Amino acid sequence: MSSSSKPTVIIVGAGLGGLTLAQSLRTAGIPYRLFERDSSEASRQQGWSLLLHECLPALRKIAPPSAPPIECISVTYQTPYEDHFHMFNGHTKEVYLSFEGPVFADAANKRDAYSISASRSKFRAWLTHNLEVNWDHAFKGYEVLPSGRVKAYFENGVEVEGDILVGADGSQSKVRSQLFAGNPAGNALNRLPHACVAGLVHLPRDKYLPHMKYGPSLYTTDGVGLRVFIGLRTFSPDMSTATLVWLLFWVEKQDKKEPPAKGETEKPTLTTLHMATPAELLAYAKQATADLHADFREIFEETKVEDMLGSLVLYDREPMHCPAGPITIIGDAMHVMSPFRGEGGNAALTDAFELSEAIVNLSSSTITPEAINTTLRTYEEKMIPRGTDMVVSSRNAGKEFGTRGVTEKLFNRAELGELVQKH
Ligand SMILES: Cc1cc2nc3c(=O)[nH]c(=O)nc-3n(C[C@H](O)[C@H](O)[C@H](O)COP(=O)(O)OP(=O)(O)OC[C@H]3O[C@@H](n4cnc5c(N)ncnc54)[C@H](O)[C@@H]3O)c2cc1C
Repeated sequence: MSSSSKPTVIIVGAGLGGLTLAQSLRTAGIPYRLFERDSSEASRQQGWSLLLHECLPALRKIAPPSAPPIECISVTYQTPYEDHFHMFNGHTKEVYLSFEGPVFADAANKRDAYSISASRSKFRAWLTHNLEVNWDHAFKGYEVLPSGRVKAYFENGVEVEGDILVGADGSQSKVRSQLFAGNPAGNALNRLPHACVAGLVHLPRDKYLPHMKYGPSLYTTDGVGLRVFIGLRTFSPDMSTATLVWLLFWVEKQDKKEPPAKGETEKPTLTTLHMATPAELLAYAKQATADLHADFREIFEETKVEDMLGSLVLYDREPMHCPAGPITIIGDAMHVMSPFRGEGGNAALTDAFELSEAIVNLSSSTITPEAINTTLRTYEEKMIPRGTDMVVSSRNAGKEFGTRGVTEKLFNRAELGELVQKH
């Protein structure tokens, strides 16, 4: 074991979960080593924004000293708009649900808590303040040493020893695949019956203004069998243009494959999606949304082929205990889930806070392999019911699109009930 009374924590992955864990450990004075395969903080497009809610009070507590207030990561920061979220019937424009003002407040801390539609790139930059990140370090594998400590190996030849290894390396986690090498079911992902196509649209002021009314930071609109997420990404410096990002989801019917009607684009399937060209994806998106309300359809009509972002296939995994030893996983590595309740990132942050708390408690006792094992399994014990509930309700939230009853059920948690304003 380490000679210090504090364990050294190796974190693989500087995404939302890994960075938050490192910040929480830094705040508590616990040594960490953070490794990321990206070559720098900005080397990868950070795509769709992220709705932060339950995790905001804890995020404020670990705010890096040199970082600006958390509000600055909002896509609407320093604009005339505030983060609101609406869900519409895509045909009638009827509002199913509307969250405005200080929403998602937790009972204990109502004044502070509300939702922020976070720009992922700004959030990653915010979380990176005051942290030492080892960029360009792709994790290769690990070895548990006879002492009980763990050694991590990286593709660039670097080897690092620590007391605990945390895989925060996302849904395709390499840490998880080694951890569950003897139990392939533990590493398996459940492929969801959804397909998704995404694109960007640039709108001049007269065209973007109505969308700021529908949901300045984010809104969703449902058609029969489909759901669209539309969110602000950025404004041009003079605010003459807004760039919105859209994601069109549909439920794939794998049992029957109907030939396209004359003049229609063939619907990409889960297996053909990745082969479709941007022009084919856009043609399909326009066709699928053709009977939406004209105000929503405009988004697709105005999108240019060169602004198509591509396609996504969705997976989930119910969390489970990791094998005994000094290794655990957090975030999407542990419980990737469908995005239909906007909870995956919040769950990754909550994991990071709770694991850090458990490690801080450990550092007040003697650090032995047994104590580390107990600490990690105790974190998992607490996380598993929470994570399972989120994975299952996110899965159910994608089962049916386009009905008020289903949409209302998505947000029927007791703590939100009184805050939801029904229209
Ligand atoms: C379309 C969409 C919309 C979403 N919207 C929301 C939302 O509104 N709210 C919400 O809470 N959640 C949302 N989510 C979910 C959220 O994005 C994820 O749950 C969250 O990013 C998980 O964080 P993470 O840190 O576990 O993984 P990631 O953010 O994926 O980070 C993993 C990191 O590990 C690194 N890595 C991977 N392999 C290696 C390796 N071998 N070596 C070193 N580093 C490695 C990666 O480069 C990455 O930086 C959405 C997801 C999707 C797909």
